[in-house]
Amino acid sequence: MRALHSSEACFVTTPGAPNPVPGTLYVVATPIGNLDDISARALSVLRSVALIAAEDTRHSARLMQHFGIGTPLAACHEHNERDHGSRFIARLQTGDDIALISDAGTPLISDPGYHLVRQARAVNITVVPIPGACALIAALSAAGLPSDRFIFEGFLPAKTAGRRARLEQVKEESRTLIFYEAPHRILECLEDMSAVFGAERPALLAREISKTFETLKGLPLGELSAWVASDSNQQRGECVVVVAGWQAPADDSAVSAEALRVLDLLLQELPLKRAAALAAEITGVRKNLLYQVALERQKDA
Ligand code: SAM
Repeated sequence: MRALHSSEACFVTTPGAPNPVPGTLYVVATPIGNLDDISARALSVLRSVALIAAEDTRHSARLMQHFGIGTPLAACHEHNERDHGSRFIARLQTGDDIALISDAGTPLISDPGYHLVRQARAVNITVVPIPGACALIAALSAAGLPSDRFIFEGFLPAKTAGRRARLEQVKEESRTLIFYEAPHRILECLEDMSAVFGAERPALLAREISKTFETLKGLPLGELSAWVASDSNQQRGECVVVVAGWQAPADDSAVSAEALRVLDLLLQELPLKRAAALAAEITGVRKNLLYQVALERQKDA
């Protein structure tokens, strides 16, 4: 394996005839836990480029060591990205290919890289994505919540007031919502979501995806936050929260008086879901509609 160079050494270019063909900037996804999730293409690019621009060179050196890759690493993190960007661009313009990686997953997704990619595109450098792991997509793919339209909100503000204010802004968003959250804030985050979105809103907590203690738990927000509160192990590791989008309250004027009478009778004896299902069978009204109406009637009771 070649020795790793310091970040300064990586910018030294060989004098002589410059290569007129600019290099390519590869945006390479790396694993979010299980190292087997790296793609063959990612490994081949990381081996062949002249330089790897990494969020944290020490962290990525371990990954490179694992795969026996000796390509030099240079730091490209949020504090130096704007300033060092021009140095990476200069290197690309001499014809060298560069791979951009972050500590885990897809660069630019709640990770550095945006400024470098933007600068590269501005000077017509070819930017090639090498797709792979991304926590939000992995969580959504297994959440069982609508995945045809969704929004990614990244990290919420750390303090309660700011977090609640942001949640209020997306309270009536009908697309599925995806959030990243730090483990030490996951409980208060879920409690705030339950308070703002409503305890009944379906949600999923995806923790430690692809790692030993991977846990995916789907429950309404109220039950999910109670479950996390009752087990401190659920307040550890990395997490993604997926929340169902807002559904307009069902208009019970669309349901006949007879169907409402049946529903109300069943609600006196049965849990809400069962009452709605039975009322749907008896009256022929859609189960989902009766479920929504039942939720509204319980709120008003
Ligand atoms: N670039 C990464 C990606 O593509 O997902 C995200 C980087 S962001 C700094 C780190 C956050 O992503 C964590 O706080 C957590 O919310 C989420 N995350 C990363 N790895 C995860 C995993 N294995 N399981 C669950 N969430 C994860």
